[in-house]
Amino acid sequence: MTQKIALYPGSFDPVHFGHMDIAQRAAVLFDQLIVAVYETPKKPLLFSAQERVAMLTTALAHLKNITICSYTGLTVNFAQAQGAQVLVRGLRVISDFEMEYQMALTNQQLGPDIDTICLMTRYEYAFLSASLVKEVFMAGGNVSQMVHPVVVESLLRKRAQGGAGGVVVPAISL
Ligand code: ADP
Repeated sequence: MTQKIALYPGSFDPVHFGHMDIAQRAAVLFDQLIVAVYETPKKPLLFSAQERVAMLTTALAHLKNITICSYTGLTVNFAQAQGAQVLVRGLRVISDFEMEYQMALTNQQLGPDIDTICLMTRYEYAFLSASLVKEVFMAGGNVSQMVHPVVVESLLRKRAQGGAGGVVVPAISL
């Protein structure tokens, strides 16, 4: 029997509980889930592709049918190369819909054999985004309700290196 393989692509800069929830739920729906870190999105990045993969690997280590990797180029090409039949995306608020719809239809043109499914966010994560995590952290806020401890550690390490978007953020208690 053919394995149902899904690819969950994103920038994951950094991974947060909203992403983890979608990955966990997709892992139940498919035989294999590949969480794919897009290396060079248009938005400014805080973490390297390698760092984003490392955080995801730790945060999702409890899920046995998940693999984590990074990629460049067209998502549908990568999905085809991995043998995936489905792209998984998460929907938070209505404003996500237009963008996801446009992407899904574009990907349908580029790779008609690959389908997109969108999972609705869980209520408590409806307003959670990677940029919110970074903004709260940089402003000195506690992000432990938003991300796995490995991400808190990585954010603290970035800050110690003078990272966090090139800005040295003030010391805070997390
Ligand atoms: P972000 O918007 O947090 O920077 P990405 O661009 O990495 O995240 O998004 C990857 C996928 O995860 C997208 O399909 C996005 O809609 C989804 N996603 C992001 N945040 C959430 C959330 N809080 N709940 C559900 N899905 C989410």
